[in-house]
Amino acid sequence: MMDSSLIDQLAEIVGQKNVLRAPEELLTYGYDATRDEGRPDCVVFPTTTEHVSAVMRLASEHTIPVCARGAASGLSGGSVPITGGISLAMTRMNHILEINTDDLFARVEPGVVVATLIDEVAKHGLLYPPDPSSMRTCTMGGAVAENAGGLRGLKYGVTKDYVIGLTAVAADGRVFHTGGVTMKNVSGYDMTKLLVGSEGTLAVITEITVKLIPAPEARRSLMAIFGDIRDAGRTVSEVIRSGLIPATLEIMDRITINAVEDAKGIGLPREADALLLFESDGDPAVVEKEAARIEEICRANGASEIRVAADDEERESIYTARRASLPSLARVKPTCILEDATVPRSKVLEMLNAVNEIAERHGLVIGTFGHAGDGNLHPTIICDERDAEEMERVERAIDEIFEAALRLGGTLSGEHGIGLAKRRYMERQFGPEGMAMMSRVKAALDPKNILNPGKIFEVTPCLTS
Ligand SMILES: Cc1cc2nc3c(=O)[nH]c(=O)nc-3n(C[C@H](O)[C@H](O)[C@H](O)COP(=O)(O)OP(=O)(O)OC[C@H]3O[C@@H](n4cnc5c(N)ncnc54)[C@H](O)[C@@H]3O)c2cc1C
Repeated sequence: MMDSSLIDQLAEIVGQKNVLRAPEELLTYGYDATRDEGRPDCVVFPTTTEHVSAVMRLASEHTIPVCARGAASGLSGGSVPITGGISLAMTRMNHILEINTDDLFARVEPGVVVATLIDEVAKHGLLYPPDPSSMRTCTMGGAVAENAGGLRGLKYGVTKDYVIGLTAVAADGRVFHTGGVTMKNVSGYDMTKLLVGSEGTLAVITEITVKLIPAPEARRSLMAIFGDIRDAGRTVSEVIRSGLIPATLEIMDRITINAVEDAKGIGLPREADALLLFESDGDPAVVEKEAARIEEICRANGASEIRVAADDEERESIYTARRASLPSLARVKPTCILEDATVPRSKVLEMLNAVNEIAERHGLVIGTFGHAGDGNLHPTIICDERDAEEMERVERAIDEIFEAALRLGGTLSGEHGIGLAKRRYMERQFGPEGMAMMSRVKAALDPKNILNPGKIFEVTPCLTS
């Protein structure tokens, strides 16, 4: 429990109106989009890098845990302050500082909502491609700290592919800069890449520079409907093997389709076993050719119907369907546990089969959707945590889903991060030596373990490991 005089000192740094300390106000800051919970001793809203630096100096001096927080849409428990201390809410650092149309980059504060940046650069004919389904909520700081992916990941990559420079504050309050505004930069260690995906455990990010690209001239979206999910899985592999790179290749299974239809009523085919959603973009002639080839592959692999979006409204409705997957599944039962296991793209079918087999064997309802083109599936277990017996089966199923992903050459998380949710599986993927190396990085940058303690690592990292 933090001494109240320390909270007074924080208020002197950031101003009284930028600190919360009343228990009822703190409650909200104990959660993210998972089932995890914690309770901070106070919430601090910095508005400048200097504020963050002064907060970290004080925290370091008194060994107070600091949990950086964006919009708390995280799906691995990253912004849940499990050890108390300071919840450092970055949402009031929310300015777009520069959109540079000569050198094609943007500089933003971490609290800028991802879709705000996407919308603003679009006004200049530019594209910031990473578009998580949560983009209308989540912040750039959270997206960088989780290395968020999105629906355009297959062709354009994920957040790390666009971050070229950062300003960050170290655990002891020192402010440092990484990267810059150039497209090429190999000076020294790539500290930018180290911080991207570091989940608030190595530094607090206070400014982000991202590269931008010209917006594509044309787009075509289509939905392919399959009576058997295995045909959809085969289609994914075939599209990738054929050398096509659509911007988007997403999958939704029967359970997800019906949950979205229940929630949104947008005319999805309830009887389908799976849907694949594609978008081709770029030069109009190339888009035309690519979309025709995708259609051909879908039909050859058993698609029963193909719906091509006739205009922007229809295109938007296809995307709404996909973006609504998780919120719609979450309405079905009181508890919804979403996994993020990712496999090599040629193994999507095997992973789908493994998930279905696990669901059947444990008598569970698992809806699967995700970025199929990236091999990044989101098996989502719909259950009720008041039912202890069911939750035991759920735990076993989660274990087996990770086992299956690792067996297929995959990874624990494709985009949601490790946080609390997957930390106990880390050693299985990286072994003791792999974990020891990561621990050394953590201990070197945060020797007092005050930056988001308990995340990524189960055991407190120390230099002697
Ligand atoms: C409906 C729904 C759909 C989603 N779809 C996607 C998707 O398509 N792709 C995807 O990748 N994710 C998705 N997510 C997960 C989530 O939205 C992303 O991980 C997002 O990037 C988190 O951003 P946030 O601002 O909410 O961060 P938070 O949840 O607040 O924090 C996430 C992590 O970042 C750290 N952090 C936040 N700000 C900073 C900072 N300034 N400096 C250092 N560390 C910081 C926190 O400590 C925490 O560890 C989805 C979530 C939901 C609820």
